[in-house]
Amino acid sequence: MAQTRQAWSEHALERLSDAGFRRGGARQVVIELLDEQPCALSALDIEDELRSREGRRVGRASIYRVLDELVTLDLLSRVEVGDGVARYEPQRPQHEHEHHHHLVCDGCGRLEPFQDDALERAIRGLAARVAFDVSDHDVTLHGCCERCRTT
Ligand SMILES: [Zn+2]
Ligand SMILES: [Zn+2]
Repeated sequence: MAQTRQAWSEHALERLSDAGFRRGGARQVVIELLDEQPCALSALDIEDELRSREGRRVGRASIYRVLDELVTLDLLSRVEVGDGVARYEPQRPQHEHEHHHHLVCDGCGRLEPFQDDALERAIRGLAARVAFDVSDHDVTLHGCCERCRTT
């Protein structure tokens, strides 16, 4: 797993410098933070997380700029779960891709990843039956997380 994560941030930094962007600064810290995540983060999550780490003050405008650059270069995918907040997760190379879907808490906005083989098989079966050339899918389940249920 550590190797996979390393691969994405290295890959992302390389693509950025190929595209003429300077390494370092906000790009480096945002990329490293995203690479450590099991799932997607919003710009606000990123800002909070960086602030809580000592000496990592990165302005919101810089965070948005880096996220835009990474989306434009296809290095990040935007995850929309219907609450109006855009979250971002690394677009890892296909063979390393740990495919997952999302559980969203409508109380606190918490996002959790889940994987399910039976669901994937069902979607493949469905894709074979419809008159669509299905290239991608994402599944979002809404509800109430454990923390919100108990408070
Ligand atoms: Zn995710
Ligand atoms: Zn919750």
